Amino acid sequence: MAGHDELKVGGLTLQGIAQGGVETSIRVPELKLMFDVGRGGFGALRYDRILVSHGHQDHAGGLPYLLSQRGMMGKRAADVDLPAGLAPGIRQVLDAWEAIEGFTFSVNLHPRAPGDQWMLSKQLRATAMRTVHRVPSLAYAVERITRRLRPEFADLPGEALKQKREAGENITDEVAQPLLCVTGDTQIEFFLTHELARQCRVLVHEVTAWDERRSVEQIREWGHTHVDEVIAHAERFEGEALVLVHRSMRHSKAQAERVVRERFPASIRDRVHVFGN
Ligand SMILES: [Zn+2]
Ligand SMILES: [Zn+2]
Repeated sequence: MAGHDELKVGGLTLQGIAQGGVETSIRVPELKLMFDVGRGGFGALRYDRILVSHGHQDHAGGLPYLLSQRGMMGKRAADVDLPAGLAPGIRQVLDAWEAIEGFTFSVNLHPRAPGDQWMLSKQLRATAMRTVHRVPSLAYAVERITRRLRPEFADLPGEALKQKREAGENITDEVAQPLLCVTGDTQIEFFLTHELARQCRVLVHEVTAWDERRSVEQIREWGHTHVDEVIAHAERFEGEALVLVHRSMRHSKAQAERVVRERFPASIRDRVHVFGN
């Protein structure tokens, strides 16, 4: 299908579409998460949890359609995380479509603010982070949370540990493993200010412009990132895969991959991927 892509990196599969200004929806089957809805098309019905970065139609326009389709198929209420500033507008749009279609959508809207953390499942924790765009916008980081026996108890026999646990003593520490961050649309300031994003095993970051046809200044004016800015700072990324998405239609995937090969520092080049056909 035109525009659809699939990439396996860092133990995760990224599926979907990521074309700047046209449609963005990135799905991660291993985590059962969908980032942005795009136009709500092919493959989207499988996901009960949707994280919406911001209210531009290329990212969120398909939400009413998707919720309508889910309703007709009798699916359970979708959980939709979205910037708090976007929630009232989306509610109005949904109300209007409910009136037009004559039935009620099954959805839980969860308004989020920068710094909010919540559990997506038993082990996965989401963190909302402020991005820099022209409307209220958030990036989402996903960490796997596990518990590890505190080092001071490492040599205790099982029976002694059991007694401590039964006595209500906390014998474990929380371990958070940063798995994935997806930015939505943002200027480069997001990458520069959020250490958690740079530490994620997989960071999906927007790069809208890939050559000099649009200057860094022009791209920043629209709240986006130019590849020159990423090249200048990419070495600060600490994870396994930096995945660049939201390429404008001016640039082919082949052109973007050539830029990665020829212009990114050798130390990071092999960890940089271009996503979106
Ligand atoms: Zn966009
Ligand atoms: Zn946007």
